[in-house]
Amino acid sequence: MSCVNNWRNPPLSAQGLTIPLQWAGNQQDRPTSAQIQILETTLGLLPFEHLQRFVQSNGYIRASGPSCTPASGGGYGTSPSYIRLSYECWRDSFNFTYQYTFLHEFGHWVDETYQALNGLRQSARAEYDFLVAASHHGRTNGSNERFADCYAIFVFRYIGGAPYNHRPRAADYRGAEGRRRFLALFLTPAFANLQPLQTRVPAVP
Ligand SMILES: [Zn+2]
Repeated sequence: MSCVNNWRNPPLSAQGLTIPLQWAGNQQDRPTSAQIQILETTLGLLPFEHLQRFVQSNGYIRASGPSCTPASGGGYGTSPSYIRLSYECWRDSFNFTYQYTFLHEFGHWVDETYQALNGLRQSARAEYDFLVAASHHGRTNGSNERFADCYAIFVFRYIGGAPYNHRPRAADYRGAEGRRRFLALFLTPAFANLQPLQTRVPAVP
């Protein structure tokens, strides 16, 4: 198996921006048109400022073929900026409409780029403690996983309007608990210039 990197032409397009898409593998491993559409729809949900900054930092997305890394889930980097997606993650039902795995990894990128959690810990300790007390399902653990989950679920469910069930404990991101966590996002430096987004947190079911 060859995991040679290829660039898709044309690149992805969303919100008037172009986002380079790389795939790792052979010709037959190139992303399908359905996957391209899911990625572009997902990119269309992101807060514009975050997507714009990703593009300005030469960010790109890498879709991996089978037996190319990562074997499952996804990954991210900030220098250079990239989000990578495993071949395997496309089998998960939560990636069929919007790419949840992408949103989680993008949440990590936002956290690191804007020093979101660090800023929240310094400016609003109680909200930081509450945000990171959520449960998390995954191979890696830590407070940054909670930010990535919270960011992804906020975009997926409240901007995208898609149902999402947080497997470890659904109540972490529903009702009063969910509302408090999403509002904590807005207290981080990542949302400092995105005040109108606050209207996007509705009464939570
Ligand atoms: Zn993660």
